[in-house]
Amino acid sequence: MGGIGSGRVKGSGKLTTEDTLSILASELYKSGRPREESPVIRRKRDARHGIDVIVSIVPDKNHLECTVTRVEVGSEPKVDEIRVRVSWTPCALGGQRAALHCVGCGKGVRRLFVRPLRIPLLCRSCARLRYSSQTRSRYERRRAKLEEARARLGASSAPYTWPPPKPKGMHWKTYDSLLREAEAAENAYREELEKRLAPYGRWLSRRLAQRPLGDEQAAS
Ligand SMILES: [Zn+2]
Repeated sequence: MGGIGSGRVKGSGKLTTEDTLSILASELYKSGRPREESPVIRRKRDARHGIDVIVSIVPDKNHLECTVTRVEVGSEPKVDEIRVRVSWTPCALGGQRAALHCVGCGKGVRRLFVRPLRIPLLCRSCARLRYSSQTRSRYERRRAKLEEARARLGASSAPYTWPPPKPKGMHWKTYDSLLREAEAAENAYREELEKRLAPYGRWLSRRLAQRPLGDEQAAS
């Protein structure tokens, strides 16, 4: 291949955030302090490249000391020692939130990713990853949105039990607006569901049209 546009990775070719080992600030810190004294170990196998990635992290107030080990069968393990800057921003509800700074661009983010063949510990955009939700179909996304809307109403996630009663202690105004939101999500979901079922409906009506009509036909 080659030529114009060949650099773009499309569809299933591109890795998602879910395929990739990552470290999350809130897993390392709590109330402005490291959660644990001992190193935090994360490990994931990258099936595509056949590489095991192991990250050992020692969190400190203002940085992470990370040891990234990449193990590939038949070659020496590759070890990188990396220091990641940590900064703090105040939260609206009090306390402080940690940001981990990308080794590539320096941006402070909540999650850093370790791709086996790149400089480790990058933000999502430097690691060139898609969100896993971007790989879900429209039907799956709408279904997830509906479930979220229903969960906010305290309803069961199963569709077709409708409408859920107002949860105790919730204001009517809140309930009404959540209900409208859930209703919109439900409509969007049904629309997508019908689209999915349409080919089956067409197939079924073709089959019915081909079938001899039995009694009525015999009578004529
Ligand atoms: Zn970056």
